[in-house]
Amino acid sequence: MKWMGSLKCVKSAKFWSIRPQSKKVREMLTHPRFGVLRSIDEIQAVGHRVVHGGESFSSSVVVDQEVKLEIRRLFDLAPLHNPAHMMGIAAVEANLPDVPQVVVFDTAFHQSMPPTSYLYAIPTVLYRKHKIRRYGFHGTSHEYVSQKAAEYLGRPIEQLKLITCHIGNGASCAAVLHGKSYDTSMGMTPLEGLMMGTRSGDLDPAVVPYTMNKEDLTLNEVNSMLNKHSGLLAVSGISSDMREVIEAMNKGNENAKLAIDMYAYRIRKYIGAYTAAMDGVDAIVFTAGVGENSALLREKICERLTFLGVELDKSRNEERSSEARRITTDAAKVSVLVVPTNEELRIARDTYRLVREMPVREPVSE
Ligand code: AMP
Repeated sequence: MKWMGSLKCVKSAKFWSIRPQSKKVREMLTHPRFGVLRSIDEIQAVGHRVVHGGESFSSSVVVDQEVKLEIRRLFDLAPLHNPAHMMGIAAVEANLPDVPQVVVFDTAFHQSMPPTSYLYAIPTVLYRKHKIRRYGFHGTSHEYVSQKAAEYLGRPIEQLKLITCHIGNGASCAAVLHGKSYDTSMGMTPLEGLMMGTRSGDLDPAVVPYTMNKEDLTLNEVNSMLNKHSGLLAVSGISSDMREVIEAMNKGNENAKLAIDMYAYRIRKYIGAYTAAMDGVDAIVFTAGVGENSALLREKICERLTFLGVELDKSRNEERSSEARRITTDAAKVSVLVVPTNEELRIARDTYRLVREMPVREPVSE
C-alpha cells in the first residue's frame, strides 16, 4: 500500500544537526566577487530570528546572559529550533566578540492574544506547570505585512481588522485586530492549524494514540509523521512543493487536485472563523511563497468568500509584482491584498533600532 511506504520512511527518519560553519560564512561575506563586505570588521550588529520566545518575550531584545538563559530554558518548547539558534549566537560571540546581537522572536507578535485565544481546553495545571498554550509563529511576517497593508490602504492600523495568511511551506493565518495579534492558527508548536507542505495541521488528537497502536509506532515516529510526512506531500503523494503539485493536477492527477482543494478549503475556514472572531474584516492579506505567487490558490481560497464582500478582480489577481497590491475590484466591500513579506528587513530594522538605543560603553582605561 502506498501510505505504508511513507510510514516506513517515518521510522527511518533521522534528526539532522547543525554545525556552525563560521569560516565558510566569513569567506562568503568577504569574497572578492560575491561578498558584500570588504572586511568582517564592518559588521556592527547581528540580528537573529529565533523561533520560540515563550511567554518571556513580547518584543525583540539585545542578547545578554539572561536572554541566553531564557532561550535555553525554552529548548523544551522548540527542541529543533532554539538549540540551533543558540549555536548561531555562540558562533557570532566566538567570531565577533564585541559585536552586539539582537534576537527577534517568531512568537513575540502573538503575545497580545487574549486567554480565550491562547488557552487550550485541557487541565489548567498543564498551563501553569508546563506553559502548554498557543504561542503562534511567523509573527515577524504577520506583523510586517499587516503594517504594510495598513500603509497601502492609507488607514491607521488601529482602526483595521485584518486577516493575514502567511502561506508558504509552513503556513499560518492570523487575526490582526487593531494592529495586534488576536488569534493565530499555529499553536504551542508550528504543527497546528493549516495544512502545510509536510505538516498535517489540525487533526483530532486521538489520531495520535490510535495510530501508535495500530501501526506500532513510537511517539517520536508519529510526531515525525505529522511534521515531516503529512500535509501536501502525503495527500498528493507527489511533493510538498506547491508548484509540483499544481503541475501534477494540471496533468490530471486526482490526488494532487484533492490536496490543493483541501489546502485552499482549510485556509477559507480560518478566514471565516477569524471574521467571526473579530466581528468583521476589512482586508485579507496573502503573503509568502504560495500567497505571493499563486493566482490559482488565491482564486480557490477566495471563490466562496463572496458572502463577506470579497470580489476578486481576475486580471489583478494574475498580475505579478514585488509591491503590495489589491486583487479585489474597487467596489468590493472587503479588500484582498498581496503583500510580499520581508522578515529579514524587519529583523534588520529591530536590530538597528535596539543597538542604537544601547548605552554607549565607556572605553576601559588601562
Ligand atoms: P516559502 O516557504 O514562503 O518559501 O514558500 C514555499 C512554497 O511556495 C513552496 O510550496 C513553493 O512551491 C510555493 N511557490 C513558490 N512559487 C510558487 C508559484 N509560482 N506557484 C505556486 N506555488 C509557489
